[in-house]
Amino acid sequence: MVQVYLLSEARGLGKEVLGGKGFGLVEMAQAGFPVPPAFIVPTEACRAYLKEGAVPGLEEAVAAKMAALEGLVGKRFGRGEGATPPLLVSVRSGAPVSMPGMMDTILNLGLTLEGVGALARATGNPRFAWDTFRRLVQMYGEVVLGVEAQAFEALLEEAKRGRGVGADSALGAEDLEELSFRFLRLLEERGTPFPMDPWAQLQGAIEAVFKSWQNPRARAYRRIYGIPEEMGTAVVVQAMVFGNLGEDSGTGVGFTRNPATGEKGLYGEYLRNAQGEDVVAGVRTPEPLEALKAYAPGVYEELRGVAERLERHFRDMQDFEFTVERGRLFLLQTRSGKRTAKAAVRIAVEMAEEGLISREEALLRVEANALPGLLRPEVDREKAPKPLLKGLPASPGAAIGHAVFSNEAAERLSAQGLPTILVRPETTPEDITGMYLSRGILTARGGLTSHAAVVARGLGVPAVVGAEALRVFPEAGRALVDGVEIREGDLLTLDGGTGEVFLGAVPLLEEGDTALLEKLLAWAEPHRRLGVRANADTPEDAKRARALGAEGIGLCRTEHMFFAQERLPYVQRLILAKDEEEEEEALKHLFAFQKEDFKGILKAMDGLPVTVRLLDPPLHEFLPSEEELRKRGDEEAKALLERVEALKEVNPMLGFRGVRLLLLRPKIFRMQLRALLEAARELREEGLDPRPEVMVPLVADPKEVERARALAEELFQEYGPIPFGTMLETPRACLLAGEIAPLVDFFSFGTNDLTQMTFGLSRDDAGRFLPRYLEEGLFPFDPTERLDEKGVGRLLQLAVEEGRRANPRLKLGLCGEHGGEAGSVRFVEPLLDYVSASPYRVLTARLAAAQAGLERPRVPVGVE
Ligand code: ADP
Ligand code: MG
Ligand code: MG
Repeated sequence: MVQVYLLSEARGLGKEVLGGKGFGLVEMAQAGFPVPPAFIVPTEACRAYLKEGAVPGLEEAVAAKMAALEGLVGKRFGRGEGATPPLLVSVRSGAPVSMPGMMDTILNLGLTLEGVGALARATGNPRFAWDTFRRLVQMYGEVVLGVEAQAFEALLEEAKRGRGVGADSALGAEDLEELSFRFLRLLEERGTPFPMDPWAQLQGAIEAVFKSWQNPRARAYRRIYGIPEEMGTAVVVQAMVFGNLGEDSGTGVGFTRNPATGEKGLYGEYLRNAQGEDVVAGVRTPEPLEALKAYAPGVYEELRGVAERLERHFRDMQDFEFTVERGRLFLLQTRSGKRTAKAAVRIAVEMAEEGLISREEALLRVEANALPGLLRPEVDREKAPKPLLKGLPASPGAAIGHAVFSNEAAERLSAQGLPTILVRPETTPEDITGMYLSRGILTARGGLTSHAAVVARGLGVPAVVGAEALRVFPEAGRALVDGVEIREGDLLTLDGGTGEVFLGAVPLLEEGDTALLEKLLAWAEPHRRLGVRANADTPEDAKRARALGAEGIGLCRTEHMFFAQERLPYVQRLILAKDEEEEEEALKHLFAFQKEDFKGILKAMDGLPVTVRLLDPPLHEFLPSEEELRKRGDEEAKALLERVEALKEVNPMLGFRGVRLLLLRPKIFRMQLRALLEAARELREEGLDPRPEVMVPLVADPKEVERARALAEELFQEYGPIPFGTMLETPRACLLAGEIAPLVDFFSFGTNDLTQMTFGLSRDDAGRFLPRYLEEGLFPFDPTERLDEKGVGRLLQLAVEEGRRANPRLKLGLCGEHGGEAGSVRFVEPLLDYVSASPYRVLTARLAAAQAGLERPRVPVGVE
C-alpha cells in the first residue's frame, strides 16, 4: 500500500521520497513559515505507475488526505458552500533533483462550472472566478488531455482582438466566461472533454504528473545534467492561494542572494495580480522586488525577514516562490538556488566568513566543473561599438555566434562547427536542445528569473533576456530591432554580464576578477593530496597554467610545434627525404625550432616538471590533402601526392604512429630528445632550473619500451639522465603494466585514447551514435568527457596496482581530457600522484582534488 503524507506527517523523510519541492515544503512548514497545507504522493508511486500503469490503493490514500486537507483549510474540495469558496488545489511535480519547469504542474484544480459560481459569490469577484476557471481548462487541456497550447492561445488572441485589447488582464468577467466555454467546446471537439468532476480531475492530473517524468524535454534535461532515469517524481497536492485576486495580490520569486553575482541581500521579481506560472514562463516582464517597498512595504519587510530565516534554516542561498493573496504572504517553494560559478564562489566564501558554514563546507559547495566559467570573457568596452540592443544581464560571460531561431537551426549550424546564439521571444522547456548547443541565449521577454535565465545560468551559457526592443519571428527565421533586421546566420555578440547585444563580432577581454576564487583555492590546498599539472604546448599556455596553480606540465605535445606555418615545409621535407642527407638537413632545422620551443616552455615552468611527449600522430597529417595537391598539379605537388598515397592509412588512429613511428624512424626520436636535453642544458648554464621529462606514446608491449629506453639512454650518456616514462593508452599496455613498470620512471594514463580503444570507438566518428546512445540511456554519460570508472577505470586500477608492485618508485599521472573533469579527478584521486589538465581546467582539478581529499581518507593501492 502506498503511503501519502500530509506535510506534518512527512518529517524525517528525504528528498528521494518527497522530491525536492515536497521536502522544502515540509521543512518550511515545520519551521513555521506560512505554507498552504498540502499532501505528498511519494516518488515510489510514480515508479510503480510507470512500471505497472496503476498504483493500487493510491486513490483511497489520496481521498483520505484530501479529507484531512479539507479539515485544515475549512473548505470542501471542489464544492463551495454559501460564503465559503470551494477548496482548489495545485497538483505539482517535484523530482528528488531540481528540474525547473521540465515537468508539469496544474493549478486551480477542482473547479467546475458549478464551482465557478460558488467562487464568484464567495469572493464577490466573478472576473477572478472565470479567469481561474479558464486557466484550469487551458492547463488541464494541455497537460492532461494533450491538446496543443497553440489552440488555446489562438482562442485567447481572438478574444482579445474582439475586445480590441492587448493584455489578458484587460479582459472582463464576461469575456473570460465566454472564453471558458470556447475552451470547453474545443476540448469537446477534440474528443477529450474536460471532466466536470473534481475527483476525476485530480486523478487525471496526478497521472499526468507521473507521465511527465517521461516527456522528451524532461529526458533531455536529465541527460544533460546526468540525472538518473529511474528516480521518478513525487506529486505535491496543495491548497491554492491566489495571486490574481486584485492589485493587493501577486506572485513572485525571491533569492536570498543575487544568483548572478552572489551579492548578499534579498533579490527577486514580482508580478502584481498574477498567478504563479506567469512569472516563471516569462510571459509578462515582472518588476524588481524593491518595487514592493513603495506600495506594500509591510510585505516587503516580511519577505526580507523570510529570506534571512530561510537562509539560516537551510544554510544555503535559497531560491523561493511566493504568492501574496490580498496582502497575505504565502511561501510555495524553496530550494538551494542555481547560481553562476562566480556567485557560487562568492556565496561559499562569504557564508564561511559569516560563520554560517565551515570552510570545508564552502569547498564542497562549489561545483568544480564550473570554475573555468569564472574566467569567461567579457566584451572589451573600450573597443566595442555602440550596442544594438540592451536587455537584462541574466548569465555572465560574452559570446559570439550566429543567430538561430530554433532548436533545429541550432543543431544544423552546430553540426557545421559554427557557434550559435539562440534568439527567441522567450524560452520554454522545449527549447532545451537549442539552449544547450548555443554559445549564448537572447530573449525578448522575461525577467532574471525567467526560464531562459535560470537554465542559462545552470548551463553556464551567457544570456541576455527581456530585451524589449527586440521582436522575434521564429517561424520566419528573423528578428527586428528598430528596423534593423537579424537573419539566421548573422553574427551577434552578447555580454550576459552587462545585458548588451552587438551586431557582428566584437573584441572580447579575457576573464575578470578572481580574488575570491583564489581565497577559496587557498582554503582547498591543505586538503589536496593529488598533484595538478597542465597540458600545455606553448610558453603562453605554460605561463597561464602556472598562474592558475599548475605544478608543472603533464603533457606537452610536440607535434603542435610541427604544424606552425614556417616549420611545415621542413616536416614535409623530412617525410619526403630521398636520402640520408636530405633527412639530416630537414632534421637540423626542426631541431633548432624544437630546442627554442622547449627552452620557452621549460623557462615558463622553471623549477617544475615538464613532461614532453615525443611525436605521436601519423606522418601524413603533416602533408597537404590529396585534393589540394591534385589541384596544384606542379612537380613538387606530384611528388608529394605520391608520398601521400603511400602513407595513406585506412585507420590512422590505429596505424603507423606513436612509439611505432619513433622506433622505426629513430632519427626523429633522437632529434626531439636531443632538442629537449640541449634546451635544458642551455637553461642550466643560464642559472635556471629546468626539469624535463620525456615520454613515449601508444606503447602496447614492454619490448617497445625497452627499445625506446635504449635509444634514450644513448643520449642520457651524453647529457645525463632525465625521467623517462610512457603513456598508458592502449588496453594492452595497462594489462602488461607489471612488465612495463620496471623499464620506466613514470606512467601517464592517456585516457583519451585509452577510452577510445577500450570502448572501440573513435571520438571523431562517435557523433553518429553517441548522442542517441545517451538519449536512450544506453550510456549513462559520455565517456569521452567523464572517465568510465567501470571499464577504463578498471584497467587503470589494475595498471596502477601491478605497476606499483613491480616498481615502487613509479610515478603515476593522468593526462587525458578527464584530468580536468571533476568526477574523474575524484575517482583517480586515491590512485595517482597527479593529473594534468588544460590550463583553465587546472582550477577544476585543484578544487576537485581537495574535495576528494575532504570526502575520504586516502587508502594507498598496491603498496605493501
Ligand atoms: P515548477 O516546478 O515548474 O516551478 P510549480 O509546482 O512550482 O512548478 O508551480 C508553478 C507555479 O505555480 C509556481 O510559480 C508556483 O508558485 C505556483 N503554484 C503552485 N502551487 C500553488 C498554490 N497552491 N497556490 C498558488 N500558486 C501555486
Ligand atoms: Mg516552482
Ligand atoms: Mg593519444
